[in-house]
Amino acid sequence: MNNNRTNGLAIVAALSVALLSGCEAPSLDSLLSSNSTQPAGNTATTGESTQANTAEPTQGSLRAKQASLAETITDVNGVPTVTNPTDLAVVVNKKRALPADYIPPDLVEPNVPFPFDEKVEKRLLRQEAARALEELFAAARQDGIELYAVSGYRSYKTQKSLYETYVQTQGAEHAAKYSAVPGKSEHQTGLAMDVSGADVKTRLEESFGDMPEGKWLAEHCAEYGFIIRYLKGKEDTTGYAYEPWHIRYVGKEMAQEITAQGITLEDYLSATATAQK
Ligand SMILES: [Zn+2]
Repeated sequence: MNNNRTNGLAIVAALSVALLSGCEAPSLDSLLSSNSTQPAGNTATTGESTQANTAEPTQGSLRAKQASLAETITDVNGVPTVTNPTDLAVVVNKKRALPADYIPPDLVEPNVPFPFDEKVEKRLLRQEAARALEELFAAARQDGIELYAVSGYRSYKTQKSLYETYVQTQGAEHAAKYSAVPGKSEHQTGLAMDVSGADVKTRLEESFGDMPEGKWLAEHCAEYGFIIRYLKGKEDTTGYAYEPWHIRYVGKEMAQEITAQGITLEDYLSATATAQK
């Protein structure tokens, strides 16, 4: 507890220096010290598996228990907004925003290498995802692969600032392709981490996917509950270009089903109601 608190204060102090002006420091102190015991997931979903019946096929049984995309969206002042932000299966994309004020309940700093020293919010992940990332990185190291955690949690305010900078420097079209509108970044869920390796100098670029680190990540991340979220050739579904570095925590079972089928999270969950293999 005490430790958490000191840690949090240090982060806040560093943050106020490190972040751009206009990007007010979010209260990381309270984020880190609120060790909420709230269970991960299902807090806002309507009754799960309302369609479930005994005739349900055994294949895809996990999928049948998940709420479909259509069941987890509502209109908030004209913005399609997800109703299940704390769910490990939450889908946030260009058509599905998080509530603007959403802050994950259980952000912690995973004990993994970062390619920077600052105590900033991008070190953070939700607790379950953070523990899984530690296991993933440890397994990589056992195989002689050194991974770095480049960017995790991103608050609405940070994303807003980033997006505006992108538009100003790269133009609106480029921004739409590579950056998310505030509220629509998966990084705000606290379940996504950008990962890189020394071979690409820890940059986030497509060639990472061809490096030993990137290949190892794609091959093994599902064993620890992560998926490569933005697949090559799935841009129309995800809304994003291929990003071999962006992994998303969904839990081991779902990650393995999704990866085995070579599909996106969107595909997986939109098929919920009629899950037949
Ligand atoms: Zn990312």
